[in-house]
Amino acid sequence: MSNPILGIIGGGQLGSLLAEAAKKLDIETVILSDDTNAPAKNFTNNFICGNYEDEKIINEFINKVDLITFEFENIPYKVLNNINEQKTVLPNPKINKLIQNRYSEKDFLNKNDIRTARYVLIKDEDDIKFNQNLLPGILKTCTLGYDGKGQHKINSIKDINKDIDFSKEHILEKVVNLKKEISVIITRFGHQRYEIYEPIENVHEDQILKHSKIPADISDSIKNKSIDWATKIVEDLDYIGTLCVEYFVDKNNNLYANEIAPRVHNSGHITINTHNISQFENHIRAVCGLEKIETKKIHNGKMLNLIGSEISNFRNKTFADNEFFYDYLKTEIRNKRKMGHLTIIEK
Ligand code: ADP
Ligand code: MG
Repeated sequence: MSNPILGIIGGGQLGSLLAEAAKKLDIETVILSDDTNAPAKNFTNNFICGNYEDEKIINEFINKVDLITFEFENIPYKVLNNINEQKTVLPNPKINKLIQNRYSEKDFLNKNDIRTARYVLIKDEDDIKFNQNLLPGILKTCTLGYDGKGQHKINSIKDINKDIDFSKEHILEKVVNLKKEISVIITRFGHQRYEIYEPIENVHEDQILKHSKIPADISDSIKNKSIDWATKIVEDLDYIGTLCVEYFVDKNNNLYANEIAPRVHNSGHITINTHNISQFENHIRAVCGLEKIETKKIHNGKMLNLIGSEISNFRNKTFADNEFFYDYLKTEIRNKRKMGHLTIIEK
């Protein structure tokens, strides 16, 4: 059987890195993006630009590929489900429906006995007033937030202000007294068939990931529990592909699941250089039905996200042989925009 042609929805850095991994495996990619300047244009074999709701564009895309995956989870469920009726979409769109909404996502975790920070659904100002036991808290829009967007810190009801758009549903989440944040990346190939990366330790600045490192400085019990929970999640979702679970560890060493990314994840960029098989390659292998290869760590290392104008200091730099620089080739430098990353491995 020849390799399938893989469609990828979304043309940011995750789409680019997926396309690169596919190329290594001799798999042709077609990327669909609504951004004419999508960086993944530089990395994919074929690029289609158009609105995700435009039926003609979607049909053109579907006709060019054998199966479809995506780099971000916020594609409207209706669109993704409609595509899935014509060509297989992996992971299955019903997973997106569950995870696109922070409220249903957290309910799902709790139903599986996976601890989260305490939270409540907020429809209006009064709902916050009735739930002051969750303050200090973070108000988060139920849908479409990323990199801290759509979030408001609420220390007391005095912090309720005009910037909060109550036409959207929110959750109010109790602030966790953070010791550290970690993530677990897992690729599921089928029933009880996984490749799991050891937990990665993450540092956020301004709610945007800044550094990641392997190994995470955590106890064996946190390590085992975070891996168990991630395994339980993919099995329960009957998930195919790479998924990431973001966790909080509090000052009393309690573990909380924060969110699930049903896709490859920024913290997993490090796996390109620390492991024999990266999170991107494993995702492509799983969705395309290729061989599952035992994934092993080769080096410890750390990854630094290059945000906004920071990228300029790296574009003409020379690097040591244990440093790997990735430029996402975004045409415009913007404040708080992820522009590239640098991974440094321990030899
Ligand atoms: P996003 O979808 O923007 O990544 P997150 O819920 O992951 O949203 O929040 C981004 C970051 O904000 C987290 O990685 C963490 O650093 C901080 N944060 C979010 N919720 C909490 C919380 N309940 N307690 C403490 N810190 C939090
Ligand atoms: Mg997050």
